[in-house]
Amino acid sequence: MVTVTIRVKFASEQRDRSYQILIRDGILEDLPLERFPLQNASSFFVLTDSNVARLYGAQLRAALSESKRRVELVSFPAGEQNKKAETAWHVASKLSKLGADRSSMIVALGGGVVGDLAGFVSSIYKRGIDYLQLPTTLLAQVDSSIGGKTGVNTSWGKNQLGTFHQPRGVLIDPRTLQTLPREEIINGLAEIIKCSIIADREMFDRISRLDKFDSAIPNELIVDACKIKAEVVSKDEVENNLRAILNFGHTVGHAIESASNYRLSHGKSVILGMIAESWIGLQLGILQRADFEEQSDLLQRVLRQFSVKTAFLNKRTLFRFVMADKKGAPSSIKMCLPSRLGAMYVNSEGSYKIPVSKEIFEASIDHLREVLASPR
Ligand code: ADP
Ligand code: ZN
Repeated sequence: MVTVTIRVKFASEQRDRSYQILIRDGILEDLPLERFPLQNASSFFVLTDSNVARLYGAQLRAALSESKRRVELVSFPAGEQNKKAETAWHVASKLSKLGADRSSMIVALGGGVVGDLAGFVSSIYKRGIDYLQLPTTLLAQVDSSIGGKTGVNTSWGKNQLGTFHQPRGVLIDPRTLQTLPREEIINGLAEIIKCSIIADREMFDRISRLDKFDSAIPNELIVDACKIKAEVVSKDEVENNLRAILNFGHTVGHAIESASNYRLSHGKSVILGMIAESWIGLQLGILQRADFEEQSDLLQRVLRQFSVKTAFLNKRTLFRFVMADKKGAPSSIKMCLPSRLGAMYVNSEGSYKIPVSKEIFEASIDHLREVLASPR
């Protein structure tokens, strides 16, 4: 059993809000609470969803009770459709009824839906209280629990109400992945592969050597992905420039995900997005062919292990979605693209964002259709 400690520093915070991400099998049953600044925490309020409450609620309650503090569990029905302001309101009113105060600590136990919603409630409840993240999906463990983005969806878009609110710590128990449906694994796997492409060639090679992709994903890959995400967000907390490299594969990916009306999962959409965007890099002369092919081979191998439908790849529709996603900024699409495996392209002014024409964008969708039509 290994405990990995990552210190995340945020320049924008006057107080030192650096925190640790601890990763260890079984950490949920044996919480190293002494590693966190909990001296002032009078009570714990575990926020979770109905599925995770059933699987891990009692276990976590028992582990937290060791601290001799009061522990309450507040759960809401599982599902992305419940990541909304009404649920945040409902949860906050329950906290209030149960007597949560400014010295209470929220504990977010669950996937990205729970983490985002619990983080959001923590950031506004009595003008902001402390919280811990205990992510239980691969996506939440390697991506959404790190970096302090919180939020809920609204009728006019995803995460349209939200805040930046850093947790006091993140505790990751890879054992919880054993109960996670296989279809959820690809969501985290896509982000792990993305991290390797943007920052770590050797990690990419290790992923390439895996012959199957399931919940038995090696813990070191979770650790490495966390390190990369933590390093990027601690250098650029509110996404002025560098943090944008984490969007690799997401410009095209989000367009595909939206065009499918969220029937195609985030992971599958982002994998398709990475294939398209690296092809764009090749066309622009930014990415070498050998690196492009290596990347494309791995991504296609993953796609073949999970069934993917091609129905949502209409280039004109996707172009409309990309433009809508840019939130008003007119003219060209901008993307972050790899310059080789393990490094992102940066121009002479230090910007990671590269303009991409409508023609190249649409041609990349043609490329994607060809890839999917000819399984190798
Ligand atoms: P994401 O992290 O992908 O945003 P969600 O919060 O939407 O994930 O969770 C996806 C689904 O998996 C939900 O139905 C949730 O209740 C369930 N879930 C979360 N963690 C686990 C787990 N460790 N085992 C089984 N199901 C889980
Ligand atoms: Zn993503």
